[in-house]
Amino acid sequence: MSKSVVKRTPGLAAYLDSVKESNALFGDISRHVLSKAARPNSHRSDVIYPSEVVKAQWCQRATYLRIVNGRVPERTSFRMQNIFEEGNRTHEKWQDWLAEMRRLEGDWGCQGCGNQFYARGPEKCPRCHGSRFKYRELRLIASDLMLSGRCDGYLPADGCLIEIKTLGLGSLRYESPGFVARYEVETPRGTVIDLERMWKDLRRPLGSAVKQGILYLHLAREYVGLDVDRCEFLYDFKATQETKAFTVMYDEAKADALIGSIRQMANCVIAREIPDCPVSSDGCRDCKPYQAAS
Ligand SMILES: [Zn+2]
Ligand SMILES: [Zn+2]
Repeated sequence: MSKSVVKRTPGLAAYLDSVKESNALFGDISRHVLSKAARPNSHRSDVIYPSEVVKAQWCQRATYLRIVNGRVPERTSFRMQNIFEEGNRTHEKWQDWLAEMRRLEGDWGCQGCGNQFYARGPEKCPRCHGSRFKYRELRLIASDLMLSGRCDGYLPADGCLIEIKTLGLGSLRYESPGFVARYEVETPRGTVIDLERMWKDLRRPLGSAVKQGILYLHLAREYVGLDVDRCEFLYDFKATQETKAFTVMYDEAKADALIGSIRQMANCVIAREIPDCPVSSDGCRDCKPYQAAS
C-alpha cells in the first residue's frame, strides 16, 4: 500500500549542489550517482526492517508511519551514496571469495540471463549455463511479524550465518556516532579521530550488530528451519585493509526480547494505534520527516 515517491526535494537540493562542483568530470559523476539514488527503489516500505529494530533507540513511531503512509524521500548526498556503494562492494568481495570456495548458499542472480535461483556456490546458471553471478543474499521473512530482511550469507557446512561490516569513518559516523565520539582527540589543529586506537579496541561486534546477528539466527532457525547456531562477523577496516573476525552465538533470551518488541510493533499496525516516539514528544530524527509529511 506504499505511496509512490513523487516529491524528491532533499535529493534535488543535493543534486543542485553537485552542479556547483568546479571539476566538470566529478560534477558529472555526482549528478549521475544522485539521479540514480532519486529513482524510486524496489524495497518494500510496508514491512519492518531488521536494521531499524536493532538500533540503540528504535523509533517505532517512524516505522509505523512508513508502513501506514509510505516512505518519505530521504536526504542524501554523494558522500552518503559513496558510503553505501563502498559497503556493497565490500560485501561482494567477501561473498565472491566464499562462493569460489563453494561454501556460500542462498539466492543468486545470473548476470548473463537474469535468472534468479537458490544454490550453494554455483558453478553454472541452471538456465543459460553462464558463470557470472551475484549473490542476492539469504532472504529471511517472518510474515506474522511483518519482518523482511536479507542476511549477508549462509554457510551450511559451517552451520553459521555471516555478517560483513565495513569499518570506515564515514560508515561508522552514519551507523554508530556514539562509538566514534569516544575516539575524538583534541589537537592544536582541531578534533581528530584516533582510528588506530578505535580499531585496536574493537574486540567484539558493536551492540546493534550483535542484536542483528541474533535476530537473523532466530529467523533462519525458526522460519526457514536452518541448522545454524552462530553468526560470524567479518570487519573490514578501510584505513589499513586489516580484518577482524568475531563469533556471536545464538542467544534465545535475547532473541525473545527482540521478537517481543517486533510483535508489539506489528500489533500496533494491525490495530492502527500509533506508538509514541521514544526520544521526545516533538519527535526524533527518524520520525520527524514522517510527521511533517502526514
Ligand atoms: Zn543465466
Ligand atoms: Zn521518533
